Amino acid sequence: MRHFPAFLDLAGRTVLLLGEGETIARKAEPLRRAGAVLRHAPRFDAALLDGVVLAVGADAPEDDLRALSAMAQRRGIPVNIVDRTELCSFIMPAIVDRDPVTIAISTGGAAPTLARMVRQRIETVLPPRLGALAALAGRFQAAVRRRLPDLPARRRFIDAALTGRAAELALAGRDTEAEAAFVLALDAADAAPQGVVHLVGAGPGAADLLTLRALRLLGEADVIVHDRLVSDAVLDMARRDAERIFVGKARANHCMPQDQINALLVRLARQGKRVVRLKGGDPFVFGRGGEEAAALAEAGIAHEVVPGVTAALACAAETGIPLTHRDAARMLTLVTGHTRDGRLDLDFAALARPGQTVAVYMGVATLAEFAAGMVAAGLDPSTPAAVIENGGTGSARRLDGTLGSLPERARGWGTGRPALILVGEVVGLARMHCAAAPVALERAALRLPA
Ligand code: SAH
Repeated sequence: MRHFPAFLDLAGRTVLLLGEGETIARKAEPLRRAGAVLRHAPRFDAALLDGVVLAVGADAPEDDLRALSAMAQRRGIPVNIVDRTELCSFIMPAIVDRDPVTIAISTGGAAPTLARMVRQRIETVLPPRLGALAALAGRFQAAVRRRLPDLPARRRFIDAALTGRAAELALAGRDTEAEAAFVLALDAADAAPQGVVHLVGAGPGAADLLTLRALRLLGEADVIVHDRLVSDAVLDMARRDAERIFVGKARANHCMPQDQINALLVRLARQGKRVVRLKGGDPFVFGRGGEEAAALAEAGIAHEVVPGVTAALACAAETGIPLTHRDAARMLTLVTGHTRDGRLDLDFAALARPGQTVAVYMGVATLAEFAAGMVAAGLDPSTPAAVIENGGTGSARRLDGTLGSLPERARGWGTGRPALILVGEVVGLARMHCAAAPVALERAALRLPA
C-alpha cells in the first residue's frame, strides 16, 4: 500500500482552493459538505497558506500550481494538484457518502476512472439508508456500553442489532420505530441468543450466481456448514471469522450421515448461533434440504430456505440449451440417476413421453442403464442428449450425442467434476452457443443490482 487512507475532520478548518474553473469547483463540493471553510483564489501567493490545513489546486497557471505544491509541502500542509500525481502529497479519493458511513476509494492515482467504477459498484450494493442505520447505532453507543460492559457480549449484541428488526426498520426509513425496536432489543440483551438456521442454495459454483439474500446471510453467519459441491469462490463470500464445518458428501461416500448433520444443525442453533447450511445448487432439489428442514422444525429451531440456481438451470444457461421451447418441450422433469438398492428406480414410461426435457442429476455412473430404460420405454434412440460438466462455473464442458450414442461416448470423458445429463429435442437446438466474453461478464458484475 503506497497511500495510507485517513479521514480528516475539516469542520471549521480552512482549505485553500487554487484556480478557477469546473475542476476546482467540483473538488470544492465534498470539502464544503465536510464543513470546511473554503479560501478560494485564482492565483498563488504564499500568504494564502497561512492557517490552512489542506490545499487543492487545478485550473491555474503551471507556475502557480508548482509553487503551491512546493510551498505547501515545505510547510507540512497536505496538497493535491488535480491529475498531477507528481505534485501531490495526498490523493483525493472517489467517495461513497452515506453519512456518517464514508467509503474512500483510491487507485494510488494510477486509474481514477477505475476508482469511479469501483465506487459505482459499491453504491449499488449498499442500502441507500445505510447512514441512518449507522446513526442509530451511534445514538445508542453509550447506552449499549452501559448495559453491556463485557466486550464480547456487546459485540454480539451490536452484530445482531445491525442485522435484526431495528436495522430493517432503519433501512426502510422508519426511524422512530427503529429506535423503539433497538430499545426492546437492548432490554432483552441478556436473554440467551436465539439460534437460526438458513438452508441456503449456493448455486452451481460462480460467486455471482448467488442470490443477494444468500450473499447477505453468508456475511452474517457465525457458522457455515457446507458440502463438497460448494465452491471456494462461494465460500470466500462468507464472513472471514465464521466457523466452517465441512460435512462433504460424495456419491456413495457420505462423510457424515444425514442424521448426524441434522443433529449438528440443531446443536449449533441451540448454542445461539446463526447457522448457514450451504448446499450446492438449490437446497430443495436433490439436496436433502427437506429432511433437514423437517428435523429443524421438529426440534423447534427457527429456519428458512433460500433458493439457489439448480444445476439444470445453470447447465442449460451456460450451454445455450433452452429447457423448454414452444416447439420442442412443454415439460421439464428433474430426475435422479442415483440408485436405490443398485437399481434405477424411475418411471421410464412417463419419462419417455415425447415433448419433454429430462434432466438427470447424479446420473453419469448409471447413464447406460438410464438410456436403455428410456429406449425400452419407447423413446427414439436418436433423441439428442448431452452431458454437461461443471455447469454455471464459467468452465463448463459439454459432450453431445444421442440417447443411443451418449453412454458409449461419455465413457472416459468426464473428469470427476459434477455432471448433468440433458435429454430431449431442445438439446439439438443450440449447439452453436457462444460463451460470453470475459469482458461482458465483468460488465455484468459491475451492474450488480442493489
Ligand atoms: N442441490 C443440487 C443437486 C445436488 S445432487 C442442485 O440443485 O444443483 C448432485 C448432482 O447435481 C451432481 O451429481 C450433478 O448431477 C448435479 N450438479 C451439481 N452441480 C453441478 C454442476 N455445476 N454442473 C453439472 N451438474 C451439477
